Amino acid sequence: MLVNVKKYATVLTSVLALTLPLNFSMEAVALAQTNQSRANIVIAQSSESEIPSPYEQAKADLPEDLYVLYRIVDRIVRSNNIDTRYWRVTIVPDYSAQLYASSAYVITLDESLLDLMGGDVSALSFVIAHEMAHHVHNHLDRAAELIIEGNEHISESDNQEEAKQRIEMWEERMQALVHTLELEADKTAYQYVARAGFEPAGCVQALNILTELPGASHESQTHPALANRIEAIQTLRVMQPSAELAEKGRLTLGLTEPLTYELSEDAHSLRIDSQPRPSYGEEIDDLLG
Ligand SMILES: [Zn+2]
Repeated sequence: MLVNVKKYATVLTSVLALTLPLNFSMEAVALAQTNQSRANIVIAQSSESEIPSPYEQAKADLPEDLYVLYRIVDRIVRSNNIDTRYWRVTIVPDYSAQLYASSAYVITLDESLLDLMGGDVSALSFVIAHEMAHHVHNHLDRAAELIIEGNEHISESDNQEEAKQRIEMWEERMQALVHTLELEADKTAYQYVARAGFEPAGCVQALNILTELPGASHESQTHPALANRIEAIQTLRVMQPSAELAEKGRLTLGLTEPLTYELSEDAHSLRIDSQPRPSYGEEIDDLLG
């Protein structure tokens, strides 16, 4: 019986959980003005001095961890001019140090990952940025394409021996692709957090913290060795100094407004809107009367 390659889809959705990309240019700065400066502010605003600022209001409205995640996502999106309609961040009451990007623009992390990062906001921003990069670069699609291709190729084998050889070849290609995507996500995440003004050392700190997880320091089917990821970040810090990225990020940030948000009823999930999102309730009433 031929191996069903679909099992790797499950592996990937749990594996491709850390990353981020970005192509920055002055053109992007101009686009930021036309796109994200129009982001609506749901948070209360007023010229009266006693009215809290958008971030003060968010701090009062949200559970502490989600407030921190809101500030991280808001800052990364605005300073990098990331052109997505929304992001949803969900904290699940689990303790397996998981962080992953599955459905579009959804970032799911568990409580123990927050514990692991030990209150280091810059380190946390890197792992969040890494997941955002997976989304922005469409990494899940790239992996899915190889899964489909592998399934077809393997299923067309004439015999078990040929199928076995094709499976081995496909596994090598898949591992190489996934490692490439992980490194690409790390690179983009570094750029994102540097432009956002977080401490670039947080990138290395986050990866160092992950080495504390059992078996995490070694190369796996889904991730390159953490030592290689750290080395790549260190090289990037030399090639792309964070101060220069931060300056560009400040320019973009100044053209935008704080993003709006909506807390889920169970208070575990936060949708952060980059663009105005009409209400389904209002839409259905407008449409049907
Ligand atoms: Zn990843």
